[in-house]
Amino acid sequence: MNRGDRMYLLRLDDASPYMNGPNWARMERLLDRYSIKPIVGIIPDNRDPNLLQYGRVDSFWQNAALLERKGWTMALHGCTHVYETEDGGINPVNKRSEFAGLPLERQKEKIREGYGILLQHGIQAKIFYAPSHTYDRNTLQALKEETDIRVVSDTVANDVYYEGGFFFIPQQSGRVRSLPFRLATFCYHPNTMAERDFEVLEAFLSANQNRFAAFDETLLKERNRGAYDRLLQKIYFLRRRNGN
Ligand SMILES: [Zn+2]
Repeated sequence: MNRGDRMYLLRLDDASPYMNGPNWARMERLLDRYSIKPIVGIIPDNRDPNLLQYGRVDSFWQNAALLERKGWTMALHGCTHVYETEDGGINPVNKRSEFAGLPLERQKEKIREGYGILLQHGIQAKIFYAPSHTYDRNTLQALKEETDIRVVSDTVANDVYYEGGFFFIPQQSGRVRSLPFRLATFCYHPNTMAERDFEVLEAFLSANQNRFAAFDETLLKERNRGAYDRLLQKIYFLRRRNGN
């Protein structure tokens, strides 16, 4: 792939022992067909009633370790996935958070616990992203003090940037589409995907297979956030506030 071209990452949210097993298996078959290695957000101690309804998948942790070996990148996706505040933090995609607005000590406890559970199961999370995309400066501080994670997937920008000791990977869309960004991450929730969602995703993967990259360290450039990134962010949140 020419490094100047637009590049896509795929991110799958809400993996845990409580999930829609058939949908996740279908996603795995689909991505294998196009040799695409996604980022997978694992909820270490899932207590979200909306997700517990799927029932327990006993083989979850063994499967997660196999996927990691296959080249999928594991991410720490919160701790319990239960919202505790109505704070949007520094990436205010939603006005609710498991982290934003909580004191540093409480956030450190959550991060330490979640990261530890993944390690106990042999999974080394390389990326963090919070439920509902919402986190604040204390979340970053907690990650610094409690983990080796220095990459966050969740910001609006044209490309990866480096700020305050972290690499931020932009995540701009909940569905596949052509976007005017150097790097775009599409975020999917396999648990709730319908037939049509799989079909649209497959059509896009088939047409754009060569633009999809796996996460790896070469994506992490020590580039500062620029004026163009800030402009994109401003437009994004303005449009979001206006409900467009
Ligand atoms: Zn989630």
